[in-house]
Amino acid sequence: MIELTRAQIGCYQGKNGLDVTVRSAQGFAQGFSPTWYMVWQYKCGKLTEAQYIKQYQMILVINKCAVPKLKQWAGHHKDRVVFLCYCADGEFCHTHLLIDWLCTHYPKIFSDGRKNLAPGEGKSGGAANETHE
Ligand SMILES: [Zn+2]
Repeated sequence: MIELTRAQIGCYQGKNGLDVTVRSAQGFAQGFSPTWYMVWQYKCGKLTEAQYIKQYQMILVINKCAVPKLKQWAGHHKDRVVFLCYCADGEFCHTHLLIDWLCTHYPKIFSDGRKNLAPGEGKSGGAANETHE
């Protein structure tokens, strides 16, 4: 099983941190990032959370060929992956949606590591107004 969790960019320095933002994701991880258009629309209030979720899930379906690459990458990082985004832990963020989606669609491969986080362990740094990407 590959354990999935998330952290804020800058707060986590481990080698198993995988940037999945539209701004700076590299290689296969780009398949897990939203689009700039979605991010802008959401920021402007033109896209609701529900619409954002729907669009992001469509992106994941289209890019599902990135999943075996993620599996392979996780194998090099002790089967523990930390998705990184600019959002703090408690915020609405596509990394949460990504973990939910992977655990739902590939329950034999991925497990939700967020449940194993002790309160405060994922320390967010408390930045209230981070941009949402
Ligand atoms: Zn985010």
